[in-house]
Amino acid sequence: MGINVALDGPSGAGKSTIAKKIAAKLGFVYVDTGALYRSIAYYVINNGGDVKNTEQVISMLPGVDVKLKYKRKAQCVILCGEDVSDKIRTPEISMGASAVSAVPEVREFLFDLQRSIAAENNIIMDGRDIGTVVLPNADVKIFLTASAEERANRRFKELQEKGDPSTYEEVLKDINQRDYNDTHREIAPLKKADDAIEVDSTSMTLDETVDAITAIIEEKTGARPPEKKERKPLLDFTDYPPVKRGKKLNPVKLFFYNLLRYIVIFLLKCWYDLKFEGVENVPKDGSNIFASNHRSMLDPVLVELQCRVPNSFMAKEELFEKGKFFVGLIKFWGAFPVARGKGDTDAIKLSVEKLESGRNLLIFPEGTRSHDGKVGRGKTGVALIAAVAQCPVIPVGINFEGKLKFRRKIVVRFGKPIRPEQLKVTTPGPKELKLLKSTIMDSIIELVH
Ligand code: C5P
Repeated sequence: MGINVALDGPSGAGKSTIAKKIAAKLGFVYVDTGALYRSIAYYVINNGGDVKNTEQVISMLPGVDVKLKYKRKAQCVILCGEDVSDKIRTPEISMGASAVSAVPEVREFLFDLQRSIAAENNIIMDGRDIGTVVLPNADVKIFLTASAEERANRRFKELQEKGDPSTYEEVLKDINQRDYNDTHREIAPLKKADDAIEVDSTSMTLDETVDAITAIIEEKTGARPPEKKERKPLLDFTDYPPVKRGKKLNPVKLFFYNLLRYIVIFLLKCWYDLKFEGVENVPKDGSNIFASNHRSMLDPVLVELQCRVPNSFMAKEELFEKGKFFVGLIKFWGAFPVARGKGDTDAIKLSVEKLESGRNLLIFPEGTRSHDGKVGRGKTGVALIAAVAQCPVIPVGINFEGKLKFRRKIVVRFGKPIRPEQLKVTTPGPKELKLLKSTIMDSIIELVH
């Protein structure tokens, strides 16, 4: 049995808003019992019944299948398989709920459901008779009131925001009528339980009321807000110092690499209508990350053609099972394996090592090729590597229409380097990584047009 808090009071006292906030603060389940009466009224009205006809309401009860479900901690009312949480919030249903709630069989019908929820959880349950009838042994009982005018004022504003045309006078009349109904009915009339603590919120703000009631609950039950779980960084990189940049590669190897680069540029320009833009954004030294959209098998070559230091790049691990010659070739070119979709930590560590060695790193953050040319959402890996290595990321946009054919126009655009430290991304925490990833993806999208 969990901690049970009963929160009763007249319509419009702000019970549901307040109970939701307290539940979120203390990690309790919020049970809005008014929603149950509302769904019965909704069922009767929707099936052509009259909420004021007691016999008819009773005869329709066997057809009512109502459940409370919790989606991301918010209560949803499921009536005969349909989520009616929003549909039951109209003035017509409010009045209908007030009428059906005066029928003893209706109250009986909802009694077990309310009790069983309370038995299984730490709950704060709001209604009219929670402290008096449903949970007479509740650990804490609060009776929340406010003047009828103040309650009408709050509800009027709420309805106005939803675009409801009701006037203030109508809302006040409604509140007075519901107060009368709720307090004068024979069964379970609205009344303060003898052991309930009364809180009058007429001249209190919402937050003040929430704080006052939370303090009462904490004092009476010893309940405390649950400790917030610190979200751990995706990987523990505390032993991983940022990459020391500026490492020089073997000048002979660099010479041959650059010679080969110019030959390939020449050959590709003979075959395609190939253009490069933003080349001034490509650093002359190494240890940079190039993050590009991915359209074709040619992409690693297209990006590398403007890099004065050779690139390493991740390639799907299946490629490393394709015969010695092929594997030797792609390894020589700088490929290393990554297990896709598994958050491969080894590949991330290897990436950082490659950057440390002075090579650049080429990443396709989308993880897979795009066949329609649209840039996907991107994975966080690129941001994680950049945050850990503290290396600049150069966004790249590869543009061409349709398939790669002879004389096809290809434009490769290089954007301004994105530096993790400028975005104040100095640790690989989830928020920092999200910011860095979205900055990188937004830049790539800008370069693809
Ligand atoms: O709290 P809410 O305004 O959603 O409740 C709708 C109606 O249901 C109220 O006017 C009241 O008549 C009835 N009710 C009840 N007992 C409860 C909760 C609500 O009679 N525990």
